[in-house]
Amino acid sequence: MLRQNKKKSEKPANQKGPVYLQNRRKPMFWFYTILFIILAILLFTRYGYGPREISWLEFEQEMLTQNDVEKIEVINQSVANIYIKQDRLSNSKYQELQNKFTRSGSGPHYIIQIGSIENFEKKLEDAQINTVSEDKVPVRYVNQIDWTNILYWILPFALIFLFWMILLGRMTSKGRTGNLFNFTKTTAKITTKETKSKITFDDVAGLKEAKTEIMEIVDFLKNPEHYTKLGAKIPRGVMLVGPPGTGKTLLAKAVAGEAKVPFFFLSGSEFVEMFVGVGASRVRDLFKKAKENTPSIIFIDEIDAVGRSRNRGNFFQSNDERENTLNQLLAELDGFGVNTGVIVLAATNRADILDKALLRPGRFDRHIYLELPSKEERIEIFKVHIRPLKKAKDINIDELSALCPGFSGADIANICNEAALIAARKKRNQVHQEDFLMARDRIVGGLERKNKITSSKEKEIIAYHEAGHAVASWHLRHVDSLMKVSIIPRGKSLGSAWYLPEERQIVTKSQFIDQICATLGGRVAEEIIFGDVSSGALDDLEKVTKQAYSMVAYFGLDKEIGPISFYDSTGKNEQQLVKPYSEDMAQKIDKEVHNLITSSYERTKKLLLDHREELESLTQLLIEKEVVEKHELERIMGKRKKSSYREEKQHKEKQHQ
Ligand code: ADP
Repeated sequence: MLRQNKKKSEKPANQKGPVYLQNRRKPMFWFYTILFIILAILLFTRYGYGPREISWLEFEQEMLTQNDVEKIEVINQSVANIYIKQDRLSNSKYQELQNKFTRSGSGPHYIIQIGSIENFEKKLEDAQINTVSEDKVPVRYVNQIDWTNILYWILPFALIFLFWMILLGRMTSKGRTGNLFNFTKTTAKITTKETKSKITFDDVAGLKEAKTEIMEIVDFLKNPEHYTKLGAKIPRGVMLVGPPGTGKTLLAKAVAGEAKVPFFFLSGSEFVEMFVGVGASRVRDLFKKAKENTPSIIFIDEIDAVGRSRNRGNFFQSNDERENTLNQLLAELDGFGVNTGVIVLAATNRADILDKALLRPGRFDRHIYLELPSKEERIEIFKVHIRPLKKAKDINIDELSALCPGFSGADIANICNEAALIAARKKRNQVHQEDFLMARDRIVGGLERKNKITSSKEKEIIAYHEAGHAVASWHLRHVDSLMKVSIIPRGKSLGSAWYLPEERQIVTKSQFIDQICATLGGRVAEEIIFGDVSSGALDDLEKVTKQAYSMVAYFGLDKEIGPISFYDSTGKNEQQLVKPYSEDMAQKIDKEVHNLITSSYERTKKLLLDHREELESLTQLLIEKEVVEKHELERIMGKRKKSSYREEKQHKEKQHQ
């Protein structure tokens, strides 16, 4: 998924617009500097710079009675600063004062901590009892601001403040807005004429209808009079709906690239913060900025982050903040009048869970549906992504496209990139077809793990298991055609049968049942050969059980239950603890699912027993070669009769002629 571009070069060069978009100095820098200075001062005053502290006894015997003391200054009634006479400083006992990096010249040269002032005065009096009054050491009382003490007080607070700042910086999305106190402002990235995205409609392959519709939007903004003079209202909100990776964000970026108007780009999750009210105020700010810059486009990616239905039964958590944000969004969408020149685009892959209020006329009333690409569209998308690669002559885009049914644009982009990486790993100068095929396998099945250690017994079980899938699906009419079987571990699986899925919109009951039988083929083969079963069929069994439940409870394909569906497209039941059917119905469903799976299991068992020889020879070949391709499968099991519905139809048509 393309996120906002965070490249520095994309920042507006001479942006006069919103202040929050401009560069700022990092506040953290100053905190670290100040903290460092405080610590340095404290350390310096304590341990280096400053007079040495001495005891009263040392003071009395070494200095006072020797008549070395020039004066005493009592600071804040707690510390006495001792000044030594200048002519005595050369005495060897004051050696330390000469060496030390201190203000030894003028003093104070030593300090004494005095307990109480009366006590100190008394001790001084007693010590000088025999001294004539002119020679007595003068004492001065001074009140001073003690900076060291103050700093000691400030330090803990400074540390707490610093810590808080760091925490707040993190919480406001890592200081994305640049300024700590700007976190109620929108985090949208704005692109203007100068900084517009480099993606154009040429980079978006296929999606013809969607492109035409979205180009119209750009036209609304560029030539509004063209529409308004006829009394038409320019739409306010356009929702791009489609599965992940079908190019919703790409299309919006292309609009940004083509439209010569400011484009505000942000993701729905950017409204959602920990603090109450932040989301709503960000929405307000976003619309304010967009209105200031009309004509303009706002694009909210993943709008479901804020736009989830408000009345979905959720017992365990309430999300008031998200609701506030959504309410604000609805209010803003209503707030600006028609033809104000702001168009809001939004993208989601879960239109079903969006709040109905968001989709009503006057808000996001235009919906553009993006589907997974067809074979022709995949060819176009391959062309776009192969363009920047250094490709070899053997590249056959038609074949690649045929081998990737059900792939999204993002998957195809991924294959192209992966192919280039594989070619680079092989130290090739160009990317070959073979690299693309490997990349495809890797994306579908995960990384090959040839070094994964499996014992020969395990290898045998895996080979029989995969051969079971292969033989069963080869002889079942409604299963997709098999391309190859492999027992090389990939990702989490230990072996796999590779099919070429047909591109179809609906699945018939016979297709479902054949599919279940083919999936059970692995487990059945294990039982037939070893008389024992392993845990290796977990994924298969999970898939089969889910498929059987959806056949019975959702698609109404079971005779006993009849044409009833408990599917809930609004997703409201998802979080509810109670099932939408009675206990009696629950038991019936369970029974039917059980019957369906066990009868399919028996059917598969019979099928594999009938073709046991094929199962044995395919297993031997698998153990020997690890990967068995289609032509070898044909050699063992003969040509597949009618591998798909379409082929069967074509076959029947031919027979008619
Ligand atoms: P989403 O629909 O999830 O927003 P994106 O727009 O983020 O999907 O698509 C992800 C990537 O897939 C794009 O950056 C692009 O490389 C590729 N892609 C998807 N659809 C297309 C397309 N129609 N043409 C070219 N590339 C596409």
